[in-house]
Amino acid sequence: MTLRGRLTSAFLAVVLGPVLLGAVFVGGAVDALARDRAHERLDLAAGAVRTAVGELCARLSASADALAVLPDPAQRAVLADLVVSRGLATAVQVVDATGGPELTSANAPPPPWADCAAPTPAGPARAVAARVEIRDGTGARVAAVYVMQVVDERLVRRLAAATGGGVTLLDHAGAAVRSTETTADRAGVAASVRWLTGEGTAVADGGRYVRRLGPAPGQPLPLAVSVPGPDRRDLFAVLFGIVLLAGALAVLTAAWLARSTTRPLAELAQAADRVAAGDLEVRVPVRGHDEVARLGGAFNRMTRETQAYVQALTAGRDQLRRNLRNLGETLSGTHDLDRILRVLLRTAMAATGARAGLVLLHDPDTGHLIGRCADGLGERAPHAEPAALRIAVGRGLLGSVAATAEPRRGRVHPDGAPLCPEEPRCLTYVAVPFCPPRDDAAGESGPAATGVLALYDRLGADDFDDVDLGTLRTFAGQAAVAVENVRVHEEAQRLSLTDPVTGLWNYRYLQESIRREVERASRFGRTLAVLVLDLDHFKVVNDTYGHAVGDAVLVEFARRVRAGLREVDLAFRQGGEEFVVLLPETDVDGAATVAERLGAAVRDSPVPVADRWRVPVTVSIGIAVYPRHGASAQRVLDAADEAVYAAKAGGRDTYRVCTPATVVTGGGVRKTIPAVPLLELDCNSELDVRLNPVSVAGEAAGADDEEAAATASGVPTGPQTPRQSRGR
Ligand code: GH3
Ligand code: MG
Ligand code: MG
Repeated sequence: MTLRGRLTSAFLAVVLGPVLLGAVFVGGAVDALARDRAHERLDLAAGAVRTAVGELCARLSASADALAVLPDPAQRAVLADLVVSRGLATAVQVVDATGGPELTSANAPPPPWADCAAPTPAGPARAVAARVEIRDGTGARVAAVYVMQVVDERLVRRLAAATGGGVTLLDHAGAAVRSTETTADRAGVAASVRWLTGEGTAVADGGRYVRRLGPAPGQPLPLAVSVPGPDRRDLFAVLFGIVLLAGALAVLTAAWLARSTTRPLAELAQAADRVAAGDLEVRVPVRGHDEVARLGGAFNRMTRETQAYVQALTAGRDQLRRNLRNLGETLSGTHDLDRILRVLLRTAMAATGARAGLVLLHDPDTGHLIGRCADGLGERAPHAEPAALRIAVGRGLLGSVAATAEPRRGRVHPDGAPLCPEEPRCLTYVAVPFCPPRDDAAGESGPAATGVLALYDRLGADDFDDVDLGTLRTFAGQAAVAVENVRVHEEAQRLSLTDPVTGLWNYRYLQESIRREVERASRFGRTLAVLVLDLDHFKVVNDTYGHAVGDAVLVEFARRVRAGLREVDLAFRQGGEEFVVLLPETDVDGAATVAERLGAAVRDSPVPVADRWRVPVTVSIGIAVYPRHGASAQRVLDAADEAVYAAKAGGRDTYRVCTPATVVTGGGVRKTIPAVPLLELDCNSELDVRLNPVSVAGEAAGADDEEAAATASGVPTGPQTPRQSRGR
């Protein structure tokens, strides 16, 4: 049964039950009242009949008494006529002592008569009679006077008129003789009287109330008096109409109530079905302010919230997909570590709903974690720039994560914050380490992690949970691999561009760098100084101490060169014992200063090798400046190369600015610029001295000896054959 059916039934039961009970009660009460009233009317009718018959008997008795007083029969006959003519009686009969008739009225009815004083049910009475005996002085009966009233239709109607009801004259057996009842009621009344004894009351067919009267002294006639019974039809019709109307109203009201109650519920159920099927656009109409309306409003709110939540989830999922795709493309498509970390951080933030995030990498040189990229830190961080965030390994939250390689998540409580002052402030946090595969056998040192990925303050103020931690570990694993890949890539690139012996950039990188620096100098109208350095008599060193020592000397030489340069300067090993230095934004004077400094750095301290030797070394340096001595990278390099020969020719352990050069101008016109005067260092004879301790001077034969001698005497020996002497 539906809710509507149940509500309708309940309402009808509640409303119609009392209505029906009330109708039954009212019907019963009114019926009882009507019956009482019918009995009352019957009592009145019976009383009226008794009174009428009693009056008749009294009148007949009075007439009989008057006749009995007269002693003369003639006088009695006159009075009898008078009584009859005046209508006091219907007939008069006087009988003598023997029973013989003395006087009999013409219209005297034959017996049986109903004697008013002593009625006897001898048969159907034809008259009501009053009897008075006439006695003589001795008391003997001499005559009897009968005064009679004929019991006919008129009498019965008169009696009926006195009662206001119906009167039926009965015979001695109770059968109806005369009646004023209508034809329809007569049989019913007669039938019901037959069962009555004494002065009982019955309800005849047809509804009339019937009472039997007499015969009794004073009322000698056996009669049945009837009055109409209560007419219940109207009452029941009215009651039925009321019940019917109430029922109809109740049904209508119940239907309206049930409908108005169940309709919103049905709409709600339909809407819930549609929501269950995935339609979150659905809304239910809200009517009024009752409980069902509030339920509908709450349903609409709930659906709206769910829809917004789903939209946010969908948008978040789409964003996450985009981020993951971006991350995948970034990881596979670039070795730009900053970009990788940036994308990774954003993806991790989007995946966990973090408000801010930070990636730090371990710097082996300083032993600190250094910020590489950050997002959303704002006021949380003590420094705006991520690179300014430096946290010692083991210190604070991030430092401990890096030291232990154990991820941490939680909430910063006011009493026990695990943060150190250098770290970003936050309410909730999760931090995971980057743990690249470690080769323990290789004896790696340093912290357990190469970096830390930290997220702060999850949206909604919830703590980061284990799912977030798992997600972040995945990202951190990818980040660790990416960092390792980039490191390996950079190492490979560095190895391909650096000289394995000295650690300086190699010839390949020189080609690239000089082109780039010339291009930059050209664009900004700056100068670029190129120094070519060639160790003097290095063959002798090799020959004297062996190749290994020669290599060690090369390493130390490279170190001193690097130490003598600015940060922006670039040092290369061009090949063998020849080196190139690029000095951006440096003119001839500046280059000469650097050349002097480098020459001194090499010359002033013999290179200590294997705690056994101190190998004296000098270097010859050629200088050329772009654009003054060459309009292209190659030309200026060639010019510097030429200058080395000049330095060699100038006695070694010195520098020279390039010889006159031809510069190609923008218009393709060749223009000869004047040669810059060659600069010379004061050469001394230290070469011999330097080589003497290991008795290598004697082995330096030929031109070298001459040069050494010339250098020692401080006199330039003039132009040499530099290309041969540099062994190229
Ligand atoms: P100078 O330049 O003063 O004319 O004399 P030099 O002896 O340096 O001249 P040269 O160019 O003839 O000799 C260069 C020597 O440098 C030859 C070779 O033995 C040595 N050499 C070149 N490359 C290396 C290297 O990688 N390691 C070592 N140990 N020696 C090298
Ligand atoms: Mg040399
Ligand atoms: Mg050389």
